[in-house]
Amino acid sequence: MPVQPVSVDDIRRAIRNVPDFPQAGIQFKDITPVLGDPRLFAGCVDLLAGRFAPGEVDAVVGIDARGFILAAAVAYKLRAAFVPIRKRGKLPFKTYEQSYDLEYGSNTVALHVDAVKPGCRALLVDDLLATGGTAWAAVELLKQVDARVLEICFMIELGFLDGRKRLAGLPVRSLVTF
Ligand code: AMP
Repeated sequence: MPVQPVSVDDIRRAIRNVPDFPQAGIQFKDITPVLGDPRLFAGCVDLLAGRFAPGEVDAVVGIDARGFILAAAVAYKLRAAFVPIRKRGKLPFKTYEQSYDLEYGSNTVALHVDAVKPGCRALLVDDLLATGGTAWAAVELLKQVDARVLEICFMIELGFLDGRKRLAGLPVRSLVTF
């Protein structure tokens, strides 16, 4: 019997909402039930790869840490390189760094200076778009290495936080919006 294709509604239903994690007031979107279901995981990776075919993307860039899981699988599917953007202090070689504001305090992400060649066609992947600060910082890092961002894609978008505003002018796509 043929396997039923995965719909975004299948993915939406599997995402688990965990109230007050990691702190009071945060509704944490837990993607482990999606990752833990072979059909949903494969379907999600297929949907994130989207309209791209092997040869059309040079590098899939994943954001530390849940973004790695999805981006590495998308990179394999598209026969592209996988490139990590990590929290400051984790990458061993020379890096560019970019800070961004959080509700309280700030965060810094880093990218190896030689992670991609200039003009690289990059697909940026993360699990979730909230305020957009993380993705914005990732795009700034990709500018430093002269990459061309073809698309920024997320499994989940928290629409009420307006993260897209932060990424205005960039091609943003998400599978499931809450
Ligand atoms: P932001 O920079 O505000 O867009 O936050 C996005 C990053 O924080 C992503 O890498 C997510 O993994 C994580 N994140 C933010 N809010 C949530 C949430 N409610 N549930 C799960 N992860 C979240």
